[in-house]
Amino acid sequence: MSQSPVICWFRRDLRLADNPALTAAAGTGRPVICLYVLDDETPGEWRMGGASRWWLHNALEALATDLHKRNNRLILRRGRADEVLDDVIDESGAEAVYWNRLYDPAEIERDKRIKAALKDRGLMAESCRGNLGFEPWTIRTGSGDPYKVFSPFLKACLAADPPAAPLPAPEGIGVPGDWPASEDLDSWGLLPTKPDWAGGLRDSWTPGEAGAADRLESFLAGDLDDYAKGRNYPDRDVTSRLSPHLHFGEISVNQIWQRIDFAEKDGAKSVGKFRSEVVWREFSHHLLFHFPDLPENNWRRKFDDFPWREDSDALTAWQKGRTGYPMVDAGMRELWHTGYMHNRVRMIAASFLIKHLLLHWRHGEDWFWDTLVDADLANNSASWQWVAGSGADAAPYFRIFNPIKQGQDYDPKGVYIRRWVPEIAGLPDKHLHAPWEAPAEVLKVARVELDRDYPRPIVDHPAARRRALDAFEAIKGS
Ligand code: FAD
Repeated sequence: MSQSPVICWFRRDLRLADNPALTAAAGTGRPVICLYVLDDETPGEWRMGGASRWWLHNALEALATDLHKRNNRLILRRGRADEVLDDVIDESGAEAVYWNRLYDPAEIERDKRIKAALKDRGLMAESCRGNLGFEPWTIRTGSGDPYKVFSPFLKACLAADPPAAPLPAPEGIGVPGDWPASEDLDSWGLLPTKPDWAGGLRDSWTPGEAGAADRLESFLAGDLDDYAKGRNYPDRDVTSRLSPHLHFGEISVNQIWQRIDFAEKDGAKSVGKFRSEVVWREFSHHLLFHFPDLPENNWRRKFDDFPWREDSDALTAWQKGRTGYPMVDAGMRELWHTGYMHNRVRMIAASFLIKHLLLHWRHGEDWFWDTLVDADLANNSASWQWVAGSGADAAPYFRIFNPIKQGQDYDPKGVYIRRWVPEIAGLPDKHLHAPWEAPAEVLKVARVELDRDYPRPIVDHPAARRRALDAFEAIKGS
């Protein structure tokens, strides 16, 4: 009689190497049903945005190919995860389900329910640590509380047991005699069609485990010594661009940690800074775990009284990269075109929305959620609240990024701006960051007619700054 199978339920761990759930499932020696469930129905869950869906399609395709090379298959089902798991168990006679833990609030609730229900049925349900280096409940202050400030959190992580050495991909993954039915990936409609806006994404990224490993290696082979300083300059290709790969679990923190440890031992500088950025991701997950309403509500409740404006024209101008501030517009266009925005520019663009336009950070969070390939509930909500000043360990509200000066400091030669805002590329560097201040003669030579080719600023920087500070004064005492 053939052995009953076990299920490895893939979620945001779309890789074969260092996948503890897969290793555990394969280690049973039983046939393994590798299952991915597209769950748009679990209550409370943030439904994936358009750019994430594009990524997911490609990542699933890559995972299916990798499994195929090992004579296995990726079974695809759509529906509520609890119901799909029940169906696949009934169809296959599976006796155990393995998965790697996730930390978004709705997912935690769902997984707890599923684990209890499986156990009630007398089945085995095992969850593993596969997505973080330091699980949120393992890092605590001396008094046992969660951390709210990054620096001591980082210190505590560095003093704790380091992320485990990565596991190799399992040698053999048992193959079921009968396969449960699988849906067709194309039928899920994850790719945009009319219009197909994903050309820039295709040109920019290679989703999947192999693409993630290549990204890490090329980052390490690049100018790692320059990372600490160079990471602030959007015209330099210095950062790792691992964020979407990390979000979808095509590479693990364990793998990155080990590789950068080796690089450090080989004498690479700036590794400490890079490690601390990876720990920012851990910190965001720590915050979301302990403060599960972070994506929806101000962490500092006094911001509930903040006099936000509603202005759909301004929001559209920001989304489309037509604010009249070249550094902000370059970032917003990079985002639309590639599904990514450099971290420094994310801060500038977010600050502009919140402080110059006085639009609620949730508008920005929603837009990023839909357009980023690395859209991540923990990182996105913690970062937006950080910029707004409403979050834990946030930038002080009164620190308002000057979009002109930020451009002059971090894109002094205008390489980044010229790439994304080509209509003003002919302006000399001196006037590129504030085209409306350029003399008429300079504009003429550069063939730029304001309002026709490029908008004038939708708000005046000094006036907007004053207005933001007044708005903050209004809630200071509350
Ligand atoms: P690197 O500099 O190479 O850093 C390595 C890794 O560390 C990143 O891949 C990422 O996983 C992590 N990391 C780096 N900076 C941060 C940070 N500030 N917070 C949390 N983790 C960090 N990051 C996301 O992954 N998803 C998001 O949805 C997201 N939304 C953001 C929204 C705003 C308003 C801001 C200001 C930042 C946001 N970030 C988000 C954080 C950061 O901008 C990106 O992680 C980073 O730009 C990714 O590029 P990289 O992989 O080249 O980073």
